[in-house]
Amino acid sequence: MTAPETADMPAFGFDNSYIRDLPGTFVAQRPARVAAPRLLRLNTVLAAELGLDVAALQPLAAQVFSGNLLPPGAEPIAQAYAGHQFGGFSPQLGDGRAVLLGEVIDSQGRRRDIALKGSGRTPFSRNGDGLAAVGPVLREYLVGEAMAALGVPTSRALAAVATGQQILRDRVLPGAVLTRVAASHLRVGTFQFFSARGAVDQIRALADHAIARHYPEAAQAGAPYLAFLDAVIAAQARLIAQWMGLGFIHGVMNTDNMTISGETIDYGPCAFMEAYAPGAVYSSIDRQGRYAYANQPLILGWNLARLAETLLPLLDADPDRAVDAANTRLDSIAGQYRTEWLAVMRRKLGLAGESPEDAALADDFMAALAGTDFTLGFRRLADAVDDPARLRPLFADRAALDLWLPRWQARRAPDAADRIRRANPIYIPRNHLVEEALAAATEGDLAAFDALLAVLADPFTERPGLDRYALPAPESFTAGYRTFCGT
Ligand code: AMP
Ligand code: MG
Repeated sequence: MTAPETADMPAFGFDNSYIRDLPGTFVAQRPARVAAPRLLRLNTVLAAELGLDVAALQPLAAQVFSGNLLPPGAEPIAQAYAGHQFGGFSPQLGDGRAVLLGEVIDSQGRRRDIALKGSGRTPFSRNGDGLAAVGPVLREYLVGEAMAALGVPTSRALAAVATGQQILRDRVLPGAVLTRVAASHLRVGTFQFFSARGAVDQIRALADHAIARHYPEAAQAGAPYLAFLDAVIAAQARLIAQWMGLGFIHGVMNTDNMTISGETIDYGPCAFMEAYAPGAVYSSIDRQGRYAYANQPLILGWNLARLAETLLPLLDADPDRAVDAANTRLDSIAGQYRTEWLAVMRRKLGLAGESPEDAALADDFMAALAGTDFTLGFRRLADAVDDPARLRPLFADRAALDLWLPRWQARRAPDAADRIRRANPIYIPRNHLVEEALAAATEGDLAAFDALLAVLADPFTERPGLDRYALPAPESFTAGYRTFCGT
């Protein structure tokens, strides 16, 4: 870090509450220096939302978002966490290739973490190199930004920087650092880290911090920690219902990848489904299909049970009463999820108000959708308001559709077509488009990435000339598609 650069550095206005509130839950860790940082992309809209001076930042962005130059007030740390990975407990994971630079208060008064990912080894790296490749960094950038535009709570991408260094995976790849913005990086696994060590005081401090940060109303409740558990359950049930409504498969719903805030985080081997199949799995590391599309609501409950376990000492001095209290909450998850999902489906199907027949109507539509492109099957329902013949050719199971449509016509809102187009995207990050963009970017050409990012920034408005972005992948691509963690 040289003095003139520091002098020109715009203020980030860091206010680092995690460090202040939670001593002993992290290690100080400077990002590694990189050889030749080159800015790939800076999210100027998000930068402005964070209150950053974009014009002043731009010339220094490669240095800052590679980790070579620390902005004033940054206090880089690696956070400790544990987690169940594919059902097996790892008592120590932690930020093995990420550092939190600090927290800022954005233009709407929300506290947000700014973190680097791929910024070198930390004490939590185990056997990993602490690095990330251009492809996975840009995948997280693209999918996160797409989710934000789709209205799904998510971490965001502030910048991507190529490091100028090569990293070794199954082959040699160009390295990169992602700058990630999140409501916080508190995870179910953060609580598990301290629970596994019997550190009840730290769990209480974590819960108090999480309440202050994400669910301040819980502090006013008669039983604040139960109210906190309820709030996380509600946020996560809403989130997973949104994923399900988009055909989104996270791929690695380990407890260390489930946030306390209710934001989606850690886009690795994730994918949006094309032909609807409840058992769809894309991730190359998910050999048992634990995190298959239709399993996600069950994993929601499983992961939240792991969170509830860590909170037991805070819920009641009497262990049996604590378990009873937690269980009443956990027993409600399936019903809460179903309610959220039904609300999503009412919007997607263009229904106004609520009717007792809606659940069956939604379930039967999903059954009729089997084998049909998930995104287009919903979106083109708008056309069926006037002319069912335009929807029919899309469907694999036309007999089921024919039985369903009259029931829906009788129930749908008069302005269903508009409602459907507002609730169902025409453009999603289709796997073949994402792979094409990442492959070109890995070779140094970001044109396809930029074009796709621009399309996905406005996913609900169908525009002329963009047909290619709305269509499913060719069969030859779909047959063998897997996403790789790329760690
Ligand atoms: P993830 O699968 O990305 O959620 O990561 C699971 C755990 O592995 C976290 O503790 C990460 O920090 C760690 N990790 C993943 N990739 C690397 C890497 N290349 N180097 C060091 N740690 C890693
Ligand atoms: Mg993770």
